[in-house]
Amino acid sequence: MKLKSKTNSIFIDCQWHHTDGQETETVYNPATLEAITEVAYGGKAEAQAAIQAASQAFKTWRDMTGRERSRILYKAHELMLEDADRLGEILTTEQGKPLKEAVGEVKGAANFLLWYAEEASRTYGEWIPSSNKSKRLLVIPQPVGVVGAITPWNFPSSMITRKIAPALAAGCTVVLKPAPETPLSAIEIVKILEKAGMPDGVVNLVTGDAEAIGNTMLESKDVRLMTFTGSTAVGKYLMRESANHVKKLSLELGGHAPIVVFDDAAIDKAVSLALASKFRNNGQTCICANRIYVHESVKDMFNDRLTKKVAELKVGDGTEEGIDLGPLINEQASLKVQKHLDDAVSKGAKVVSGGDKWNGGLDGYFYQPTVLANVTDNMLVMNEETFGPLMPVQAFSDEDAVIDKANDTDYGLAAYIFTETTSRAVRVSEKLEYGIVGVNDVFPAVAEAPFGGIKQSGVGKEGGHHGMDEFLEMKYVTMGID
Ligand code: ADP
Repeated sequence: MKLKSKTNSIFIDCQWHHTDGQETETVYNPATLEAITEVAYGGKAEAQAAIQAASQAFKTWRDMTGRERSRILYKAHELMLEDADRLGEILTTEQGKPLKEAVGEVKGAANFLLWYAEEASRTYGEWIPSSNKSKRLLVIPQPVGVVGAITPWNFPSSMITRKIAPALAAGCTVVLKPAPETPLSAIEIVKILEKAGMPDGVVNLVTGDAEAIGNTMLESKDVRLMTFTGSTAVGKYLMRESANHVKKLSLELGGHAPIVVFDDAAIDKAVSLALASKFRNNGQTCICANRIYVHESVKDMFNDRLTKKVAELKVGDGTEEGIDLGPLINEQASLKVQKHLDDAVSKGAKVVSGGDKWNGGLDGYFYQPTVLANVTDNMLVMNEETFGPLMPVQAFSDEDAVIDKANDTDYGLAAYIFTETTSRAVRVSEKLEYGIVGVNDVFPAVAEAPFGGIKQSGVGKEGGHHGMDEFLEMKYVTMGID
């Protein structure tokens, strides 16, 4: 893929700002470590201008009908789907995931535009029967205001539409700061919205200094809500700093997802879905399986089939046909995988497959899909997010004990269970302290359902009609009548 040496990446009040003469930063292809392009390195001034444009645009965007707003979102959905292959290629080039996953992500991202185009006309209020005959009580949903959206590199496309589609549908305006590793998918989404007829200032994009842009959003009284997906450390920082202006917050943070395979599970299904959950995006998703608990009576069967399937996985440049695992995003990510692996081995874990970097002649940070046995609870991999292709498998024998183990973490994003018994599925789902539970399913992120964590995995929901509520205030109007 050939791109220009410089790409305009700051979009304020419907104007693309030229990078000429501006400070820039390089975007790399993580498979080859080649420079793809340079984007602008904006900061406080650009963030302030973007917030001002969004504040101005809010005055008119909020007064449009839901139907008027939805027309633009429908159009954007159409444009995105038409262009999914090209957008997928851009995504793989800057992020590394296999092309089929990238195109799948783009289509999933487009689904959020469609879903919230539909929701835009359905922000119902309430008429509350008053206990006083001479009063009438109404609840009117109204948009929160300007939204500051900060997004990560692991899903450069869908994390953006999952935030901005409901914001726009609700009548909010947006300042978006994408991850420095993956600004190109963000630029493409903004271009699509521009083409779909988004009025000036409604969506603004600022790439650059994360801290300066984030702090400018935090310091602005006009930014009424911060929506963030990323690390728990940055999420906690935003939460603390939001207190100064009592901003609303929506946070999607880390996770440490357990998969529990019970003795009544359909083993082939459990093996292929555990594998899909662990190695999707090379283990770099916040809902990826982090630890696998398998009932001791099916452990050998599970491990044998798993080992065979893992051996079939192909590592390489995500743009090539048949690749299952692309590169990790950067060197730090690779060092973390190594640290977790070394820690586990030093504490007695056995490497069943993989166990080393992958060297296929590419410069990127690749790692072999790795399965560990003999794992114990004191290992880093069982407690911290690895964000890489490391899969620890542990046996269990008792249902209550494994639920306790699954819950024994500060995180609470996603957990998965495999069982063919309905009553167990219900019983265990209810006891798992997680925002999301997958029963014989590891792909919970869809436009129509509420995705979000509890405990230190975040606050708020994205997706579904619940996702729209984040961007609405419920105004209570009480009327005295004669
Ligand atoms: P990761 O380690 O996965 O990159 P981060 O939380 O660092 O996770 O990044 C997620 C997003 O948050 C990115 O867009 C990043 O630029 C942004 N970010 C990082 N630090 C800050 C900060 N101090 N204030 C605001 N945004 C930040």
